[in-house]
Order: sequence, then structure tokens, then C-alpha cells
Amino acid sequence: MIQLNTPEILFALHAVQQASALVKKVEETLVPGALTKGDRSPVTVADFAAQALVGHLLDEHFPADPLVGEEDSAALRAPEQRDTLERITHFVGMVAPAATSDQVCAWIDRGSAVSAPRYWTVDPIDGTKGFLRGMQYAVALALVVGGQVQVAALGCPNLNFEFLVSDSAPMQQAGAAGSLILAARGQGAWATPLSGEPAFRPLRVSDRTDPARARLLRSYEKAHTNTGKIGELVQALGVQAGPIGMDSQAKYAVLAAGRGDMLVRLLSSRQPDYKEKVWDQAAGSLVVEEAGGRITDLHGRPLDFTQGRTLARNRGVLASNGHLHEAALQALAQIGA
Ligand code: AMP
Ligand code: MG
Repeated sequence: MIQLNTPEILFALHAVQQASALVKKVEETLVPGALTKGDRSPVTVADFAAQALVGHLLDEHFPADPLVGEEDSAALRAPEQRDTLERITHFVGMVAPAATSDQVCAWIDRGSAVSAPRYWTVDPIDGTKGFLRGMQYAVALALVVGGQVQVAALGCPNLNFEFLVSDSAPMQQAGAAGSLILAARGQGAWATPLSGEPAFRPLRVSDRTDPARARLLRSYEKAHTNTGKIGELVQALGVQAGPIGMDSQAKYAVLAAGRGDMLVRLLSSRQPDYKEKVWDQAAGSLVVEEAGGRITDLHGRPLDFTQGRTLARNRGVLASNGHLHEAALQALAQIGA
């Protein structure tokens, strides 16, 4: 059983519970079909509100710790964004009654730090496209100390908790409890229903060793990966099933639960120099490792969380149940991914 015995672990749990509930509340105000194409206002409100909340909670609990967060308030301060900022302040105010617009901007901007000997990193809504499609997204928070992720929490409101702990439930189901995944270095990776009293269940990667039978996870958004190269990888490994497209670090939870066996982030040919962001990988990487899996970049190098706001020394990501890792690295080298 994970010991909820350090202030950091308790903080990660509570901050992600609260931020996920806030985001879910905004999601529930979305009227199906009411969004016009390219309308990003709901995700903007939810994104900024959740980062503001985490910044606020960090101020209360670990005022000296820097935060590397995806968002900053510059765009929100423009006069034409006044209504949006008001909506954000309204949502944050439900949890933090002291919220004013200025205070909310300051809490958001707590996230503009770069990597430090000890820092937190947050992606308030990882998988914004998934959020807008009503599919998978995650609130991701991690503590990095000396370049090592020590504590991680993922809130996945649309990831059915039963899917993670049984092999008969669907990944997503209307009305189902979402999932909260908590990992601490040396203490394993655990999942609990996102709301209500925590009831943790351990997560363990699959023991599948035959690449032909591997279930491969990839981004739902084709622009975030390279589907041509994924096709080549599938061929090189003799993988039989089609890849599973999913948004966000919810993929890492699925891998950790043994409901997938391998996950790749290949570089899009449009952005061959893309550098992964710290907030997109830190929490998910510890979840995979603590469930017994392995995570590296496409060349087999460990993920380096000491390089500012990106993984500047890495290229793409390969995560697996461990057993399939070497075969996948070889295949990636062979296809020149
Ligand atoms: P996913 O849902 O797994 O595709 O991951 C979503 C994350 O991908 C977002 O939070 C972005 O930070 C990141 N992203 C954006 N553009 C790219 C890109 N060209 N290649 C890889 N990742 C990207
Ligand atoms: Mg993200």
C-alpha cells in the first residue's frame, strides 16, 4: 500500500483531486454541439483555472518550491480577454474564495519557472484536444528532485477506473468514475477512483514478451506523432493489432495498468526537432517506472528533466512493460525513427 506519509505525496494527491474536479466542472458546462470549430474558450478557462489552483495550493504548502507549468497569464491580461479572465476567476473562486483576477494571474505565473534542484511541474490539462472532443485528458503533477521524478499524480476524469483494474470494462463510459493515479519512487504506482474516499489498487505492467502480440499506444492526434513511422515500427516488430490512439498521459496509466504494452512518441515529419515538454512526461514517466515498466527516449537514453522546460537532450519517447523495450529500441534504430 502506498504510504500517504509525506507532505509531498499528500499534496500531489489533494492538488490533483481538486484541480481535476475543477476541470470536470468546466467540462460539464460544455453544451454538446455548441462549440464552433476552433473554439478553444472552454479549454482555455479550464486550463488556466487548474494551473491557478495548483499555483495557489503550492503557495500555501511549499512556498519556496518553483513550478514549471504549461501556461502563463500574458494573453489573459489583454483587455479583450477580460470576460475569459472573469470566468476563470469565478471557477478558481469556488475552491479558493480569496481569488481575484490579479491574484489568479499571479498564481498562474508561478508556473513560469525552469528546472531547479527541486521543482514541481504541472500540465493543468494535458490533451486539450481530447478534452474538447470529450475523450481522454489528464491533470498531471510531479515533483522532481535532483533530476529524478519522486512523486507523480495523474487525474484522468474520463478514464474509467474499472478499466484499469479489470479486463472487462470499457476505457470510457458515461457516468463512470474517473481515475487518479499516484506514484512515489520506491512505493509503486496506484490507482483510485477520482472522487470519493481514496481506495488504492496497485498498478502493474503486463508481462507480455512477444512483440507480435503487443498492444501499442500512440497519440490520437496524428500531428503529434509520425503515423508512417509507426506503421514501419509495427511491421519491423510484427505487431498484429492496430495501434490504440489516445490523448494525454492517460496512455501512461493504461500502460502501467497492463492494458497496453508499449507506447511511442515518434517525431512528426513537420516538426523533426520537436522537444518533449517537462510537464508532458514527468508524471507519466514515474507512473510507468513504478508499475515495473521502462521509459527512455527513442535512442534508449533516460529522460533528462534538468534541462529547463523541455527534454532538450532527448528525442521522442519509448515506454514499455520493460520486456519489449530492447526489441522496440532495435526496431526504432532499424527504421531510423
Ligand atoms: P498527446 O495527447 O499524447 O498527443 O500529447 C499531448 C501533448 O503533446 C500536448 O500537451 C503538447 O504539449 C504535445 N505536443 C504538441 N505538439 C506536438 C508535436 N508536434 N509533437 C509531439 N507532441 C506535441
Ligand atoms: Mg500537455
